[in-house]
Amino acid sequence: MRQPRITPKRETVQWLSTLLLLLIPFVQVGGESLLRLDAPSRTLYFFGEAIRIEEFYLLLLITLIFVFIFIFITMIFGRVWCGWFCPQTTVTDLAESFDRQIVRFFGNNKVVSVAGQNLCAALLSLLVASNLIWYFIPPAEYLNRIMSGNLGLVAGISLVSVGTVVWADLMFLRRYFCKAICPYGRIQLMAMDASTLTLEFDPAEAGRCITCHACERVCPTGIDIKKGFQVECINCGRCVDACRSVLNRLAQPGIIHYTFGRRSDGGGKPVTTRSLLLASIIMVLTVILAFGVAHRSEATIKVSRGGDGTVRRMPDGAVVNFYTTYLENRSRSAAVYDITVAGVAGHRVELLGPTRRISVAANENRRVDFMVKVSPAPVTAEMLKFRLMRAGQPVAEAKMTLLVK
Ligand code: SF4
Ligand code: SF4
Repeated sequence: MRQPRITPKRETVQWLSTLLLLLIPFVQVGGESLLRLDAPSRTLYFFGEAIRIEEFYLLLLITLIFVFIFIFITMIFGRVWCGWFCPQTTVTDLAESFDRQIVRFFGNNKVVSVAGQNLCAALLSLLVASNLIWYFIPPAEYLNRIMSGNLGLVAGISLVSVGTVVWADLMFLRRYFCKAICPYGRIQLMAMDASTLTLEFDPAEAGRCITCHACERVCPTGIDIKKGFQVECINCGRCVDACRSVLNRLAQPGIIHYTFGRRSDGGGKPVTTRSLLLASIIMVLTVILAFGVAHRSEATIKVSRGGDGTVRRMPDGAVVNFYTTYLENRSRSAAVYDITVAGVAGHRVELLGPTRRISVAANENRRVDFMVKVSPAPVTAEMLKFRLMRAGQPVAEAKMTLLVK
C-alpha cells in the first residue's frame, strides 16, 4: 500500500508563490510594474492602472478586497498560507536545507557551520529586502542606484533594517517566529471556525498508532498532532506524509489526515454560511472596484490660487488673478490638452499663459501656471469654471473664485 505524498505538492506551491512574489516587480504593463507603490508621486501602479492617493476610495477598496480574501482563505483552509505560501516559511525551509548540506559536506564542524549559516542568512536577507524595495522602486532603477552608490536615504535605511530583521530571523528565530511572533498567525485564529481545514489524528484509528513519533519529529513547529488541534499547526502536511510512510510499510493507511471540521463530528463542510457571506462581500467589492476603475475620468484638473495670492488691478480697469493648475493624464497614452475658462457674463475673460496644446505623458501629473484677466473687473468676486479639453471635448472641470481685491 502506498498513499500519495503531500510534500512535493506543497513544495511546488511554495516555489511558485515565492517566484511570483519575486517576479511581480519585473512584469510590466504599459511601461510600469504590475504592482508598485511610487511614494514620491503617491501613486499605486496596479495591473496597468495608475491610482493616485487622491483616489482614496479605490485604494481603500483594493485594501479591503485583499483583507477579505485573506480572511476568506483562512476561514476555509486555516493556516494554509503559513505552510504553503508564506515567504517566511520558504526562506526558513531554504535555510534549513542549506544547514543540512553543510553537515553533509563538512560534518559537524562548528566554525564552518556558523559561517555557512551566516552567509546563507545574509544572501537570503539581501534578496528578501531587495524584493520588498522593488515594490516601491523599479528593479532596474534600484540596480542603477546601487551601482552608482546612490540608493537614497529612505531606500538605504529600508534595505539595512529589513535585511537585518530577516537575517536575525533566519539566525535566531525561524519557526519560533511563526509559532509565537507572527501577528498574521494570531489574527488567522479569529477567522477559523469548526469547518476550517485542519490536521486530525483520527481518535477512532488511534489503536493503530505504533508510537513511532515520526509525525512529531518532522513537525516544523514542534507540536504533537496526536494531542489534537493546536494553534501552532501550519497545515503543512509533513506529519501526514511521515505517518503514511511508516504505516504504508505495514500495509495500513496513515492515521493523520486533512479534514474540514472533525471527522468524529461527521466532518464539516468547506462551504458555510459565513464563508458564502464573505465570498459575496468580496464579489460585491470587486464589482464596485471594476466599475470605479472603468469609469474613472481619463484626466483631472485641479486649480488653486497661484503666485503670492495677490490680485492685480490694471490701469485699464481689468483685474488679474494668478492660478496654479495640476493636470493629470490617467490614460495609458500621452495626450494634448487645452484649458478653457467659462466667461463672466458681460465681461471679457482672457487666459494668459501656457494653456494651449499642453502635452502630458501617460500617468503624468503636470503643473501649469497661468493668469486670468477679466475686464472690466467685476464688482464682486465671481466663480470661474475651468475646463480641460481634449480634441475639443471637455474631459474634466474645476471651479475657482476670481477675487477682485
Ligand atoms: S502538525 Fe503536521 S501539519 Fe501541523 S505543522 Fe506539524 S507537521 Fe505540519
Ligand atoms: S507517525 Fe503515525 S504511527 Fe507514528 S506516532 Fe505519529 S500517528 Fe502514530
